[in-house]
Amino acid sequence: MHPDLPPLLALQEIDQQIARLRLEIAQLPLARRRVEAVLADAKRKLLEAKQAQQSTELLRRQKEGEIEELGRRLARYQAQQMQVRKNEEYQALSHEILQVKSEVEREEEEVLLLLERGDALKIDVKQEEEKAREAEEEARQQRKALAEKESRLRDQLADAEKDRERRATAVNQALLARYQNLVRGHRENAVVPVVHGNCGGCHMKLTRQTLLRAEVGAEFAFCDNCGRILFVAG
Ligand SMILES: [Zn+2]
Repeated sequence: MHPDLPPLLALQEIDQQIARLRLEIAQLPLARRRVEAVLADAKRKLLEAKQAQQSTELLRRQKEGEIEELGRRLARYQAQQMQVRKNEEYQALSHEILQVKSEVEREEEEVLLLLERGDALKIDVKQEEEKAREAEEEARQQRKALAEKESRLRDQLADAEKDRERRATAVNQALLARYQNLVRGHRENAVVPVVHGNCGGCHMKLTRQTLLRAEVGAEFAFCDNCGRILFVAG
């Protein structure tokens, strides 16, 4: 291997580490959004359960109000019935009274059903409250973990960038310029090993001359196809 290559390989390694750290940092907002979405979902379910319970209770109160109203109507008919003299009027009121009574029965059955439904919904609300509390706690922990992760990653990145500056000065400057150009194009691997006579980056077959140059290591060797800097491992 050309003696200028090991410092460049060390630099490439740290550049790859920097790229990984930056990628991890860039992914943090998505992780944060996921945490908030899970929490928002739990809160929404709780709200829906509460609304279902409240509307059932409201409906039950309405029905109870209607039953009271029917009761008053029934009392009115019964009072009128005592005062009528004609048989057909009496019969007509009896008919009305029966109708009101059956309506009351029907409404009372509905109230019972609504009470049962209300009890079941109260249990739902309790369960959703418990889940929302757990989601809140989970979100709190995950926010904290993500904040810690971010601060750890930023520290590592700062260290790596400092390390990179130091290492860059140890690299042959002409080679470094070539490397920087390649990094811009190929991003993470600009210095690659020769693999079975092929470029370790683009995998194209290398010419005999290039292969020989890489093996001897007296001159720099570049891939004939992609221009990557080549080395022979070992
Ligand atoms: Zn290549």
